[in-house]
Amino acid sequence: MNATANPPLKPQNALLSSTGTTVFTVMSALAVQHGAINLGQGFPDYEGPEPVLRAAAEALLDHRNQYPPLTGVPELRGAVAEANRRFYGLEIDPVSEVVVTSGATEAITACLMAVLDPGDECVLIEPLYDTYLPVVRMLGAVPKLVRLTPPKWELPRAELAAAFGPRTKAILLNSPMNPAGKVFTAAELAFVADLVQRHGAYAVCDEVYEHLTFDGWSHIPLMTLPGMRERCMRIGSAGKTFSLTGWKVGYITADKSLAPNVAKAHQLLTFTTPPNLQRAVAVGLGMDDAYFAGLSTALQAKRDRLAAGLSALGFGVLPTQGSYFVTADFRPLGFAGDDVAFCRHITEAAKVTAIPVSAFYAGEGAPTHYARFAFCKDDAVLDEALGRLAAWKGARDASGVGVRAAG
Ligand code: PMP
Ligand code: GLN
Repeated sequence: MNATANPPLKPQNALLSSTGTTVFTVMSALAVQHGAINLGQGFPDYEGPEPVLRAAAEALLDHRNQYPPLTGVPELRGAVAEANRRFYGLEIDPVSEVVVTSGATEAITACLMAVLDPGDECVLIEPLYDTYLPVVRMLGAVPKLVRLTPPKWELPRAELAAAFGPRTKAILLNSPMNPAGKVFTAAELAFVADLVQRHGAYAVCDEVYEHLTFDGWSHIPLMTLPGMRERCMRIGSAGKTFSLTGWKVGYITADKSLAPNVAKAHQLLTFTTPPNLQRAVAVGLGMDDAYFAGLSTALQAKRDRLAAGLSALGFGVLPTQGSYFVTADFRPLGFAGDDVAFCRHITEAAKVTAIPVSAFYAGEGAPTHYARFAFCKDDAVLDEALGRLAAWKGARDASGVGVRAAG
């Protein structure tokens, strides 16, 4: 053998190598494989508003398809600033305080990059969206996890306070919250704001479901609380606000002291975001209040439709104040396995797909008896999914499986 042969290849990035494919992709693939109705990954099966689609089509044809400005086209930055004023009373400078990104996913990473140094601590709240933890780790920062637990999803104030310390650089807060459907209250936000200020820290605010709140719950951006304007990076998503999840247009509102670093992170990640889609999103953000009210009214009716149907089947459905999702306890149906097994089972046997809620927890001891169902679907699709679950349950009950497992 040649003694001078090249050594074997060195291992690739350890963190990425140990990160699995996202649960949304896994469950969507399983849904396709089994011909299941996909109530897993959160995307609408209906189109976004016509004026927004039309604006995108027109913007493609008017010869403005080259690199737009780094922080976003002026039309969209202006529309984001104006939406901040209209909905939350925030006065924002469109030139120095808005950064447009390729989706909220990029925005989350860019905001974390803007403030975290290796060794800094970042407070994260479980259940958490799947990009938060790996990105914090990739930046060499140290995640400090605080856990919300169903069915109440209450903020454990003492534990949150204990998670903050001298090395805390930031908290990442998602409200309305995926998958819990929780909208943080003014009192909870005040508690968070106080901790953030007492530690000289920042807040990355994932507010992609800002316009999807129900039953009179309204979303309060942490950024609107006293003393929080210069510490918060507030993230919105056209995907959620205009039911166009494939577009991947996100927008960050941040004080002019913070926005430049966020912009530099965006410069390294993607540099710019398609200008035609940006201009269409600007049209969307300029739509009248009736559009935004109609969006939540329509989704609330879908939530009620799905929640009522699941309850009638015996699921323990938790309240949802906002987002695309209901969470349901499947133990009353007598299923013996955990949530991963349940979601796989109903995909194969009932031909309906959901997401196991334990996928949103990183640590040991996550709840394993809840499934997350998306209700951002046509009514007929929701009805068909409920019909399939009813048929599956009927067959199980008739064969005695469900009853035996429950007993
Ligand atoms: N944050 C949360 C809580 C989400 O549920 C999602 C998924 N849509 C995102 C961020 C990502 O949004 P986008 O598609 O705009 O990247
Ligand atoms: N936000 C969506 C969800 O929670 C999924 C987005 C994705 O697939 N990355 O279902």
